[in-house]
Amino acid sequence: MKLSRFLLLVLFASSSVAQVTVIKAGRLVQPDEGTVATDQVIVIRANKIEAVGPGLAIPAGATVIDLSQMTVLPGLIDCHTHLADGKFGEGDPVFQLQKSASQTVLESVRNARVTLESGFTSVRDVGVYRALNDVALRDAINRGDIVGPRMFVAGAYITITGGAGAMTGMAPDIQLPWDFHYGEANSPWEVRQKVRLLAHNGVDQIKVLSSGAVLTHGSNPKSQEFTPEELQAAVDEASHFGLRVAAHAHSAEGIKNAIRAGVASVEHATMIDDEGITLAKQHGAYLDMDIYDEECIEEQGRNGTMPADFLEHDRQLGELQRQNFRKAVKAGVKLSFGTDAGVCEYGTAGKQFAFMVKYGMTPMQAIQAATSSAADLLGRTDQIGSVKSGKFADLVAITGDPLKDVGLLENVQFVMKDGRVFKQK
Ligand SMILES: [Zn+2]
Repeated sequence: MKLSRFLLLVLFASSSVAQVTVIKAGRLVQPDEGTVATDQVIVIRANKIEAVGPGLAIPAGATVIDLSQMTVLPGLIDCHTHLADGKFGEGDPVFQLQKSASQTVLESVRNARVTLESGFTSVRDVGVYRALNDVALRDAINRGDIVGPRMFVAGAYITITGGAGAMTGMAPDIQLPWDFHYGEANSPWEVRQKVRLLAHNGVDQIKVLSSGAVLTHGSNPKSQEFTPEELQAAVDEASHFGLRVAAHAHSAEGIKNAIRAGVASVEHATMIDDEGITLAKQHGAYLDMDIYDEECIEEQGRNGTMPADFLEHDRQLGELQRQNFRKAVKAGVKLSFGTDAGVCEYGTAGKQFAFMVKYGMTPMQAIQAATSSAADLLGRTDQIGSVKSGKFADLVAITGDPLKDVGLLENVQFVMKDGRVFKQK
């Protein structure tokens, strides 16, 4: 009896000795301070960063990864993705009706993998055609069944009936399955009910649709959808569950209603006016502006895979959004990195960095948008967004200097998530 207890203790002690990995970083970008340190040693125990600094002793038995010829950055964060909507490039959302929910989510396994391999170790996933497919994808990644980024998910779109987040474009006598209209709400109390349901289903944030959309049939991006009362109900109810709210809004009024209601971020923010920029600053709301994806909408227009009404909605909005992004940068509004992944091919989000610099950011600001600022928007600065002791060991690396050429982030050569290497070229 005594002996077996002793053996058990020995076994327990040996299995609890966590794997130690040491990374030698030639250059290390620290977005919190906006600085770059040279010749750093990063000590990683299991899935967390234990210590960072120059000339640290390498613990005995550690696995050493030599990135001394590379620039290391914290893992990138995309604050606006739709990873769980299945295969890319099907153009019209009504094609979703030709597949079962399990087909769609299994197609999404690849989306998760290529997103991680492109250097995005975390994503804020802000809505899904079939409710809770994103929850299933997140949980499969967290169990280690499939490979993908840390996903923070919304579970469904909370939207007015026939609104920006609704499945539209069918004949009026078609009855949709429950999961295609899970988030429809048409009063403050219905909004609260949907928030309660989603919180119960384990979502990480709430997504509401404050204006019409570009990529929805029968929708007008220039319109206002939820009323101020409905938006306030969403933010208040979400706060009871410790959840933040992201609001889709293109129109100037839709943007301002959302900011006044207290949302954490406005998605797209396409037609934001000067008053909206002032309000965003006053309320500390993030603007999450997907300024690259106009390239993909136009390309799909040329290929004939983008429905004609979507192209009509989009007319002149792409350039307007980019000019308003420039204004927001100048005004010092908080900006996060969000691409609306799924509009462009999964795994290509890095292309937005060069556009953020083209439209007014410094390379460091663009990197901060996808690291420290993104972590702040998610409320997880204690876990992700910079390379600091106690945070998750989420890292990427590239050859060359992203502060000279931010476009290098389109092709990261090394990806670590949770202390595990997923890519090393
Ligand atoms: Zn979106």
